[in-house]
Amino acid sequence: AEARFVANNPRSKSLHEQAAQALPGGNTRTVLYTSPFPLSMKQGKGAYVWDEDGHKYLDLVGELSAGLYGHSHPLIRETLLSTFDSAGVSLGASTAHEQAFAELLCARFRLARVRMTNSGTEANLHAFAGARHFTGRRKVVVFSGGYHGGVLSFPDGRPAANVVDQADFVVAPRYNDVASAVETISAVGDLAAVLVEPVQGAGGCIPATREFLMAVRDAARAKGALFILDEVMTSRLAPGGLGVEMGLEPDLVTLGKYLGGGLAFGAFGGRENVMALYDPRIEGGLAHSGTFNNNTLVMATGRAALERIYTPEVCEDFNRSADEFRRKLSSLSKGTRLCFTGCGSLIGFHFTDDVRDEVLCGEDINGKERKDLRDLFWFEMLEAGFWTVRRGYIALILETSEAELNAFVEAVRAFLNRHHDI
Ligand code: PMP
Repeated sequence: AEARFVANNPRSKSLHEQAAQALPGGNTRTVLYTSPFPLSMKQGKGAYVWDEDGHKYLDLVGELSAGLYGHSHPLIRETLLSTFDSAGVSLGASTAHEQAFAELLCARFRLARVRMTNSGTEANLHAFAGARHFTGRRKVVVFSGGYHGGVLSFPDGRPAANVVDQADFVVAPRYNDVASAVETISAVGDLAAVLVEPVQGAGGCIPATREFLMAVRDAARAKGALFILDEVMTSRLAPGGLGVEMGLEPDLVTLGKYLGGGLAFGAFGGRENVMALYDPRIEGGLAHSGTFNNNTLVMATGRAALERIYTPEVCEDFNRSADEFRRKLSSLSKGTRLCFTGCGSLIGFHFTDDVRDEVLCGEDINGKERKDLRDLFWFEMLEAGFWTVRRGYIALILETSEAELNAFVEAVRAFLNRHHDI
C-alpha cells in the first residue's frame, strides 16, 4: 500500500523534498509529518479536499477539529470579506467586534469574563500564569497523555522535551483514574492549578468520566488550587462545552479551534475574581497582550459562525448523529484489533495487539499499538477517497452528509473483510 501511495503522489513527494530545503522536515507543524512524505493539499471546498496530484478526498481530518465549518461556508466568506471592507483587519484599538464576540463567548460558555489569544496554546499558558498569580503558588498538575499546546504536551507520563518550565509540572500517571489523580494532586506542594481536558484529544480521543473530572476538581479545590478545564477541542461537543454539559463549574476554561470561524484563535476565561487579575484598572494584576488578539476578521467571523451556524440546536443534532456514526463503527469493529473511541463529533481509532472495546487512558494501549495496521488503514482509506489523521483521529465537518458518513462505514467494513485476521 505504501508503494502505491508513493507511485500515486509524485507531486506531493517532490513538493515535500523542495519544502525540506527551507523547513526542517518539510513543514511547519510537526504533527502533520507522515512517512514517507505527507500529502500536500491544494484546495478544500465544503467537506472535500484535493491534493496536489489531483485526488479528491472526503475530509475527515477537519483541521484536527478547528475545521468544523468546512472549507467554503458562504457565511464565513461573506463575513470575512465584508469585515475586511468595512473595518480593515487590525486597528490597534478596541473595537465593537471584540466586545460583541466576548459577550457571546461569556454567555455561551458561562464565563464571567474572557480574554482572547491567537491559539489554544497561548490560552493555556495565560490560564496557568493567571492561576499562579492568583494563588501565589507555582506547580501545575496535568495528566499523562495530556496535550495543551505545542509547548505543553505530556505524551507518556512526562513533559515533552520542548515544554516550557518543565519542573513546574507534575504529571498524574493515569487519565480517568480517580485514585491516582487524587493521590497525585494531594501530594503536590505549592499547587497553583490542575489542568485537564474533558476528552484527551491528541492523547487518543479518550473521554473522561464525570466522576473523574469531579474528583479532580474537588481534589484541586481541597488544596486551594484552581481547576482549569481545557476545552480547546471539546467546546464543540455541547452548546456550552463539556464543562457546562457536565456541570463541572471550572475556575478557568480555555477555548480555541473552530471558535475563530476557521481562523487562528484562542481564549481563556472564567471566574470573575480570577479574571479581575487582567483588569488594568486594578493594581497588582497581570498584563496580557498580543497584537492580533482582537483582529476584526476573527472577532466578526467567530461570532457570526457561532450565532448563525453553530447554534445550540445545530450543535446538539450534529454531535448526536456523530455519536450514531461512531456506534456504527464500533459495532463493525467489535472483536477485532481496531477500536473506536471519542465523544460526539471527535472520534479516535486505535489498532492494538489485543482485542478491546474501550480505552480509558493512554496507558491501556501504550506499547500495544499496531502501527503497521494503522498505516495500512490510512493508505487504504486514501485509496477509497477518505482523508483521516494517520495516528487515528477523525474530526467531523458540519457539512458532511449522512450518506458520506455511511460510505466511510462501508469502506471500514470492506477493509475489515479484506484483512479478516485483524
Ligand atoms: N489544548 C488542546 C486540548 C488541544 O487539542 C490543542 C490543539 N490540538 C491545544 C490546546 C492547542 O491549541 P493551538 O494548536 O491552537 O495552539
